[in-house]
Amino acid sequence: MASSTLSPIRSFGFALDIDGTLLRGSTLLPNTISTLQQFQRDNIPFVLFTNSGGDLEASKAKKLSELLGTHISPKQVVLGHSPFAALVDGREDLRHKPILVVGSGLNGDSEGPRRIAQSYGFENVYTLTDILAACPAIWPNPHSYTDANVRQLPNNLQFRAILVFNNPLDWAPVLQIIIELLLSRDGQLGTESSKNGNTELPNDGFLQDNQPQVYFSSTDLSWNSEYPVPRLGLGSFRAALEGTWKAFAGPNAKLNVVELGKPSHIAFAFAETALEMWRREMLMLEKGQELLPLKKVFMVGDSPATDIRGANDFVSPQGTIWDSILVKTGLWDGKSKVQYAPSAAVEGIKAAVEYAIKNCGE
Ligand SMILES: [Mg+2]
Repeated sequence: MASSTLSPIRSFGFALDIDGTLLRGSTLLPNTISTLQQFQRDNIPFVLFTNSGGDLEASKAKKLSELLGTHISPKQVVLGHSPFAALVDGREDLRHKPILVVGSGLNGDSEGPRRIAQSYGFENVYTLTDILAACPAIWPNPHSYTDANVRQLPNNLQFRAILVFNNPLDWAPVLQIIIELLLSRDGQLGTESSKNGNTELPNDGFLQDNQPQVYFSSTDLSWNSEYPVPRLGLGSFRAALEGTWKAFAGPNAKLNVVELGKPSHIAFAFAETALEMWRREMLMLEKGQELLPLKKVFMVGDSPATDIRGANDFVSPQGTIWDSILVKTGLWDGKSKVQYAPSAAVEGIKAAVEYAIKNCGE
């Protein structure tokens, strides 16, 4: 790619994972800053596409801008829970319906996920704190949920969805309440469906009584922090939920959890749209002004199961080709055989970009 001969309109872009690809915890991995500076200098569009969460996109962008030494727009940030925004008015139409949000904000409170949900447009949002304040007997001594913001629960409240934003601090009361709602009648706390266990009904009678749908932002089993070995990710919480569910409902009763983070199709479609919109903004195009879709997007990440698998499986509605590049600065040790083969496996972000530039078709 000789930049002097190129049109400034790039036909390719990048979706970059963050943890294990650009950063480890809050420590910069080698060549992160120079790579992002290169993107800016050469007008190469990119989004930061992570399964982590618990923060508003705008606030995450601000922190990343400081850490990465490059201005990052909130529009370039796709978090594990960003695709929840698609549930507000889509087929699920949850804007006005009561939803329970699960996760922990930056201060460990459950107000964080509520703020994020409201920023997406959900208008009827409840938290664990609200439930525990209304009925302390639900779980004795829940030390993590003592924040002051409490919304009163109306009578006969029927939860229509449970949105798991990120790893809750205190798994036990959260598991308790999710399991209770999944076994309830009409998503009402304090009830039990009489259909549960009826083997003449589909799914042994479980989840046949208007219970809420569970959505998870992402299900990475583990993640890398500054600690020397991987930590329990949100996927571990999902495994705990599914294990508890099986213990109560038996081996034949399915629990249909919808997952919206990487590697889901929904997440990759969301990231592609974000990248296209960002590219338009970089080019300062007017609304309606035509632009050919990206020919290629390079997904660079350290997780074979999410970054690589998701990019390999994604079929872009606009025909963009997604190419997957695995780096060995995070989860993958660079030696073990991976289940989901990338287009290229390289040392780190710098080599990933070199590979991409060679194969971008420009
Ligand atoms: Mg990662």
